[in-house]
Amino acid sequence: MGGTCKDWKANTCDAGWKKGLCLGDKYRRCCLRCDSTCNSNENWWDINRDSQCKRASGVCKHNSNRCEGTYQGGKCGGPSERQCCVPTSTGGCPLVVYPQTSYVRGYNGQAIRVHPDFVGSMNKIKSAAVWCDVKVWVTHSFRKQGQPLSGAIVIPASRSNHLVGHAIDMNVQSAHGWCNSKCLQAKSDKGAECFINRIIADGLRWGGNFNRKDPVHIDDYYNRDIGQYDSVFRTVQNQCN
Ligand SMILES: [Zn+2]
Repeated sequence: MGGTCKDWKANTCDAGWKKGLCLGDKYRRCCLRCDSTCNSNENWWDINRDSQCKRASGVCKHNSNRCEGTYQGGKCGGPSERQCCVPTSTGGCPLVVYPQTSYVRGYNGQAIRVHPDFVGSMNKIKSAAVWCDVKVWVTHSFRKQGQPLSGAIVIPASRSNHLVGHAIDMNVQSAHGWCNSKCLQAKSDKGAECFINRIIADGLRWGGNFNRKDPVHIDDYYNRDIGQYDSVFRTVQNQCN
């Protein structure tokens, strides 16, 4: 069968999970092997058949995977067990945790926390990674602003999109190796170049094009509308930790 025992909570398995085959706690489960056919199917569905799920701000995956939200059928390509995980928010904090996949992962196991309205952009980032066959390692997503001693939260003039969950910082891993800030700015890696060109073509902003170069940064230009930004800023910074 060729599976691998892994932590179910921290990994997504395209071919699904089987319980009862691994030593350790109940979360250590067998991640079934996704062979080349399985991988190419997954990529094809992602690009051609998953649009309904993406419009619902969800992610398609085998329904034996963890879903911090609810699975919905009929929104994804592939067999009936491949379903749309639509994230739900908890408490007053509207942010969601974007599911880790083999193409988009949090660096050092960190959670990718974004605003629900940025999930569509995360799906674009994932599709670009699939298309260009690179892994995107997210080094930074939502950031909580440092609290002043007075306790009152002041909106900074810079209006960073990280403070509202509408931005990520990343490094790219391609077949040629690791592409860091310097490599991204130079577009010296073909896979990384493909990825950057694709997300720009898909309407996202890349920090390498900013006046103050920030080549690890991607956002959706949410701070273009100051009124909208300030309203979300107050909610998110007050409600989320
Ligand atoms: Zn950034």
